[in-house]
Amino acid sequence: MDVQGSFLDQLFDRGLLIETGVDGLYGRSGVFEDVIARFDALVTRYGEADGAEVMRFPPGMSRPHFEKSGYLKSFPQLAGTVHSFCGDDQGHARIIECLATGEDWTGEQKATDVVLTPAACYPLYPVIAKRGPLPPEGRLFDLQSYCFRHEPSLEPTRMQLFRMREYVRAGTPEQVVDFRESWLERGQELIKSLALPMKVDVANDPFFGRAGRMMKVNQRDQGLKFELLVPVNSEESPTACLSFNYHQNHFGQTWGIATDAGETAHTACVGFGLERVALALFRHHGLDVKTWPKPVRETLWG
Ligand code: ATP
Ligand code: ZN
Ligand code: MG
Repeated sequence: MDVQGSFLDQLFDRGLLIETGVDGLYGRSGVFEDVIARFDALVTRYGEADGAEVMRFPPGMSRPHFEKSGYLKSFPQLAGTVHSFCGDDQGHARIIECLATGEDWTGEQKATDVVLTPAACYPLYPVIAKRGPLPPEGRLFDLQSYCFRHEPSLEPTRMQLFRMREYVRAGTPEQVVDFRESWLERGQELIKSLALPMKVDVANDPFFGRAGRMMKVNQRDQGLKFELLVPVNSEESPTACLSFNYHQNHFGQTWGIATDAGETAHTACVGFGLERVALALFRHHGLDVKTWPKPVRETLWG
């Protein structure tokens, strides 16, 4: 795994990622996108038999839904909002003047009804709720979206805009726990089929501030989040490439989602970091996909 220069610089040199001048905001080459597409298709093959309902949302979601979701309570530091100019000619003149003098022009911007999606499953819960009580077998969804998190970093695995593929289960606690257990197994098989080293560990989300400390401890103690980790930037701090999240009744309660029996629904999701898996493949198998091990190439390209 040891190579000269930072991994990010190598990715830029090869043109696999394209610099924009902002840390964590990159273009992707055709080869990089092909790897993402093949991995995405592999995930589909693993999940196919379950018959998940496919939905695709744009990378922005309703601000009222975002506000209701509780995201700002837990992760205000990561959120990104979309602001637009809503002023008149005078306001426009001020923008032009600020730009010319190098002053802050963004004061003229106002929050729109759109915020950037922080995780692929966030736009889904209000949609489930709107359909009324779940059927007896619950529901299962297949999602993929670009997501935004304000966490600029020089580690290529920590981007500000990246894609997350998810399966989301809503149902009784038993149905939801079964789903997560089965994906914990499948996820490991899947990553093994790509000849990547990995381990699974309990994890916590980066809940903000003082109050967040207890939430981190609780999440770990209750085993609500597991991650499948692959060393990408270093052996010491491997990267979460897949995560397995049990939300208990959090979203069911927030959105008023009921089971067939009239109980508050439980939910869980499995998330695949598409760029992270692609980066893990480039890190371990080399920057030239043509030289990747044959079994890995066969798994991805058939
Ligand atoms: P980390 O602990 O590394 O911050 P996370 O716990 O925030 O990861 P999740 O919120 O569970 O990750 O998101 C689901 C998946 O999305 C992760 O397993 C990971 O593969 C991917 N992911 C999360 N944050 C980023 C990011 N900043 N850049 C690229 N991929 C990411
Ligand atoms: Zn999710
Ligand atoms: Mg994170």
